[in-house]
Amino acid sequence: MTISNRINALAEEARGWRHHIHQHPELRFEEVGTAAFVAEKLRGFGLEVREGLGRTGVVGLLTGEGAERARMIGLRADMDALPINEVNDLAYRSKHENVMHACGHDGHTAMLLGAAAYLAENRDFDGQLCFIFQPAEEGGFGAKAMIDDGLFEHYACDEVYGLHNMPGIPPGHFGIRPGAQMASSDYWDITVEGRGGHAAWPHSCVDPVIAAGQLVQSFQSIVSRTLDPLTTGVLSITMLHAGDTHNVIPQRATLGGTVRALSEETRRMIHRRMAEICAGTEKALGVTITLDYREGYPPTWNDAAATEGAAAAAAAVAGADKVDPDTRPVMGSEDFSYMLLEKPGAYIFLGNGNSADLHNPGYDFNDDALEVGISYWVQLARDRLAAG
Ligand SMILES: [Zn+2]
Ligand SMILES: [Zn+2]
Repeated sequence: MTISNRINALAEEARGWRHHIHQHPELRFEEVGTAAFVAEKLRGFGLEVREGLGRTGVVGLLTGEGAERARMIGLRADMDALPINEVNDLAYRSKHENVMHACGHDGHTAMLLGAAAYLAENRDFDGQLCFIFQPAEEGGFGAKAMIDDGLFEHYACDEVYGLHNMPGIPPGHFGIRPGAQMASSDYWDITVEGRGGHAAWPHSCVDPVIAAGQLVQSFQSIVSRTLDPLTTGVLSITMLHAGDTHNVIPQRATLGGTVRALSEETRRMIHRRMAEICAGTEKALGVTITLDYREGYPPTWNDAAATEGAAAAAAAVAGADKVDPDTRPVMGSEDFSYMLLEKPGAYIFLGNGNSADLHNPGYDFNDDALEVGISYWVQLARDRLAAG
């Protein structure tokens, strides 16, 4: 591992920053203290800082000493925590009841700060680096909020990169792949409106329970029969409610769930087939069906050339044998996808070792990953400024 002594020392400092952030977690768009902490650090390193972009987002701009090339590379971390009560018995356990850094965004923020500190001390590069600290990754569309607030108008990044820790991958190891690294996530609710009445006179009612049952069955054919078996999609029905007593056919039934897909094409297809099945069931059974389909984050799509660059930077830092360039995609989602819709770039997994799963109350970011994470950012920043 070719990690300089300075990065080693910075990783030690970053551990302290990480524990501070972990102790003071904040929910989406409430990252006021975290954002102030980040902004103060960045200013201290000598970066040009903008606060309040996308409500609680922070950007630090760093200009290299060389003037030969004018490329700008964006590096992004997320800052928000989750509404989970931490069960860990740690010296730096969350001080906020029912709020916890259970996704490791404390580690992401600390690593990117470490990289900013190092690169600010070693400005022997051409071009500019844009350190993006976004709010509200956990279901709050924080990346989109920053983009809508002019992120890429203020900072004309040529490429943008993200990173997420991943339990199950050994610390010091990386995983990445070109194309879809994470899925889209959409949510839907259905109301089946029938005509309620006495359960002994079904012929004078329109039974929404039968229609709801039919929908549950028919939806199973979408992934199993319409989707190409070599592509990936998920349609989960997670809620089903109707009626509240034995002798009444209810007036309505409701269903809800989620759709995940690794491509826009699959995502559109599942939505379209759901709508068609609803329309067919309406006709067949005489009920009225309303489908409320809400799009969440799009698939996280890694640009091929940027992915190669990211994998090369990871290999330079960790060794090629510790980088999986064809890692399995994950059916969870990530709002960094919005930045990748605007700019070419890539999103990489960094091993968190044998920790509890993401979003588990026993999860904790693995501090052993700080040094390699900081080194990755530094290597990537230099490589990508010199590329293209
Ligand atoms: Zn998360
Ligand atoms: Zn996360």
